Amino acid sequence: MASIKAIRGMYDILPEQTPLWQYFETQVKQVFAQYGYQEIRMPMVERTELFCRSIGEATDVVEKEMYTFTDRNDESITLRPEGTASCVRAAEEHGLTYNQVQRLWYHGPMFRYERPQKGRQRQFHQFGAEVYGLDGPDVDAELIIMTARLWQRLGISDVVTLQLNTLGSSAERAAYRADLVIFLNQHIDNLDADSQRRVATNPLRVLDSKDPKTQALLDSAPDFYNYLGDDSLQHFERLKSLLDGAGVAYEVNPRLVRGLDYYCKTVFEWVTDRLGAQGTVCGGGRYDGLIEQLGGRPTQGVGWAMGVERLILLLQEMQLVPAELSQRVDVYMVHVGDAAATASMLLAEQLREQMPAVRVLWHCGGGSFKNQMKKADKSGAKVAIIIGEDELSAGQVQIKPLRGQGQAQTVSTVAANGAVQALIQ
Ligand code: ATP
Ligand code: MG
Repeated sequence: MASIKAIRGMYDILPEQTPLWQYFETQVKQVFAQYGYQEIRMPMVERTELFCRSIGEATDVVEKEMYTFTDRNDESITLRPEGTASCVRAAEEHGLTYNQVQRLWYHGPMFRYERPQKGRQRQFHQFGAEVYGLDGPDVDAELIIMTARLWQRLGISDVVTLQLNTLGSSAERAAYRADLVIFLNQHIDNLDADSQRRVATNPLRVLDSKDPKTQALLDSAPDFYNYLGDDSLQHFERLKSLLDGAGVAYEVNPRLVRGLDYYCKTVFEWVTDRLGAQGTVCGGGRYDGLIEQLGGRPTQGVGWAMGVERLILLLQEMQLVPAELSQRVDVYMVHVGDAAATASMLLAEQLREQMPAVRVLWHCGGGSFKNQMKKADKSGAKVAIIIGEDELSAGQVQIKPLRGQGQAQTVSTVAANGAVQALIQ
């Protein structure tokens, strides 16, 4: 029989990889803690309608990327393609947005039916941050500054750049959209095929077409910034001055519109040129109308999401994976004979009791002394604790440094703890 393989575009994260993932996750969680954000966990499936109503029918995600099924009750459900809609749903459902400010974060797998390639999977992972109940540019700045702090912690500040734009209010966008459509229709024959289609469905998306001819044409399109009112302009100016103050560099990119319908005012993306075509590692913006659109009371929202796979790839590409991550254990317990095995197990338990942070691997499966020592060496442990017949009868253990920290020593079993501690610092 043929063996069963994982679904295309969905990947196992193997034990060799998980230390890097854990390291990354720890860094992100520490940054969230530094800024007073709280974790929220939502289900991975929601009613399909939630995503259609929030993300927008005329977006790539809803048009062609959703994993949608009918369940046994004939309800249409969807594996979440992103976290913002679920987070809004959860916050509304539990009254978290009523007259209060929330600073939230979430983490987990997302699902999009896309063509798998480097940095693009069908199951991928995001960390996201969402803030409810604040309308000012101050919190927009905070959200961006915290990502900059994370890049600094990870050592990638030099290879990511911040693209910043404003999408104004929905009324400003509507006025602009009308004029843009007139302009695009005048030049419809010179647009790429995707853009031609978008003129009718989602004309603002034409602005971020990757097609060079379309981009060249857009140089003479109406300028969105001429359509912005005072409120939007002041918001954008204050955001920029806060970023300036924090020393976070940015490029204003008037063509950055982001894929999803729900954004207004601030939008931004962090991009890198080190990952080829899939260069956006984090994106976000303000979505003041979304909560109301989903049936809640009018509440402002702003947030971002980052792609974990892309950031992990970037760390690997830049050789920024901390060396100690490859080390799995600190102490390897070697023993020969049944009686020594029992003594070794008891000592291992005692060490775990006394030194909870120390990783102790008790050899299982028997084998010769020489063979076990090879395994001890391969494990990356700093120390082997050896119990043979001689040691056993003398009530002693041999402590052997494996990483060039000096000579082996024989100590009484009760002194093992102290001797190990001294060696693994
Ligand atoms: P892209 O333009 O690359 O398709 P997007 O605009 O669809 O990105 P968002 O919805 O803003 O992406 O999601 C935020 C981040 O999640 C992206 O910047 C990216 O890092 C990551 N991401 C999105 N889709 C995928 C995917 N299919 N595989 C891996 N990471 C992804
Ligand atoms: Mg996409």
